[in-house]
Amino acid sequence: MDAIGCALLPASCTLCGSPLPQLSSVPICAVCWTEIPLLSGPACARCGDSLDTPVSLVNPASASFCRACRLAPPAFLRAVAFGLYQDRMKGAIHALKYDRLYPAARGLGRLLAQAIAQFASDAPAEMLVVPVPLHRSKYAERGFNQARSLAAQALRFLHKSDPAWKLALAPSTLMRLRATESQAGLTSRGRRLNVRGAFTVSDPAVVESKHILLIDDIFTTGATIRAAAQALKRAGAASVWVATLARARRTSVRRYAPADKAEDTRIFAGATLHCETNFSLQEKSSF
Ligand SMILES: [Zn+2]
Ligand SMILES: [Zn+2]
Repeated sequence: MDAIGCALLPASCTLCGSPLPQLSSVPICAVCWTEIPLLSGPACARCGDSLDTPVSLVNPASASFCRACRLAPPAFLRAVAFGLYQDRMKGAIHALKYDRLYPAARGLGRLLAQAIAQFASDAPAEMLVVPVPLHRSKYAERGFNQARSLAAQALRFLHKSDPAWKLALAPSTLMRLRATESQAGLTSRGRRLNVRGAFTVSDPAVVESKHILLIDDIFTTGATIRAAAQALKRAGAASVWVATLARARRTSVRRYAPADKAEDTRIFAGATLHCETNFSLQEKSSF
């Protein structure tokens, strides 16, 4: 049937163009799924950012935390991601978000479920799963919220793999109050200011004393996630945990940059960042 189907409906992989050997609702080939770049190397125990500052330059007691988390601890407890926001991962997310290849959410949701599963042993047994919302004008333009689609797909897998873990999707809990500018092209400080106060909780009674699992597609500087987590904590959430599908990872340009400058000269996957003046990730924002 697959052969007949492929002959009748020739299809090729959206990411690499190779012919698909089987009829599939997701036009991404098996090889491309295996080529999704993974995260590696030492990472901040809080936000998951790569740790490239020489350990001798920081207080050994806080050496497992990045500079941003040491200076201003985020409102979330931990953030994890499945892979790096580049190559096949970037292609698959773009296919979902901008080419509206909705079936890709299923395959990507499976990867997100693997990221979330990293919390299984530490996280509370009952959690509310809150996708980072789009502003209603962006939602009207895009027609769907990729964070919500990914969260719903990930939960399908987790309900099967870990049925005792009570994860309930609460998609309209968090609201985006204003249509913020696209984060692309903004400095990291600009990103923080752009999303400050952008989120609110529709009904604080829903999140009060609850443990929250916040979901988004990409963690870039963390400005959006930090602002969303802050709104949830302000509304009375007991704790906030974060899982994203992908993470834009930086590496230091100068191997021995002083600790206070270490953040200023850095490269994100696929783009250079100069001293907070030229944040030009090759991505559209998740807004
Ligand atoms: Zn492929
Ligand atoms: Zn950190």
